[in-house]
Amino acid sequence: MDYSKITTLLFDVDNTLYDESCGVEVEMGRRINGIAARMLGVSLEEAIALRNENLPVYGTSLRWLQVCHNLTDIDSYMAEVHPEDLGLYIPHNPELREMLEALPYRLEILTNGPEFHARRVLNTLGVSDLFPHMYTLEWLGFKGKPYVSAYEKVLNHLRVPAEEILFMDDKEVNLEAFAGIGGNAILVGPKEGSGKFPWIRDILDLKEILPACCGEISEVRV
Ligand SMILES: [Mg+2]
Repeated sequence: MDYSKITTLLFDVDNTLYDESCGVEVEMGRRINGIAARMLGVSLEEAIALRNENLPVYGTSLRWLQVCHNLTDIDSYMAEVHPEDLGLYIPHNPELREMLEALPYRLEILTNGPEFHARRVLNTLGVSDLFPHMYTLEWLGFKGKPYVSAYEKVLNHLRVPAEEILFMDDKEVNLEAFAGIGGNAILVGPKEGSGKFPWIRDILDLKEILPACCGEISEVRV
């Protein structure tokens, strides 16, 4: 990867800006399984199996339920799925703030989550003001990653070529779609993946993988 061309960092939110061990996804998954079981009139086990089968096809459970099961009340779905008090799950992260503030790049968010949830996460982490604008599920017209159209829409709005963007996400399928249109990508999270992309366990390790910004951060800290 040619890091010298990078001008913009594009971050996923859930399980990327905080560790998956925080348990937010597990809790949201538990809630989605309950909703799916209720909507489809099947057992929880069947709902889980169907969701696992369809998630790779539709990208999000919402999209699956919209397309295949006529879900229309998106606001109620979103409110039910996303925990209100994220402080119960995600710790405040001053180190993340310190790193982001020292990075000499434009910082952007691309999430398949709704705006209110992404904002809650950023507030809980203590970095909300660093991301005044976010590319959220609503902004993407509810057709998010890994649809190529989602990335193209973001690129058009950013007015930055894909080659200048470094995208961080915990799902390799999302990285592949972005790499497919010429973007740079890093896998974040506890699993190394296929080895196709550079991998960091924790988002704070980003400062180790971006040589240019390491110098900047050291200078700031000296
Ligand atoms: Mg994620």
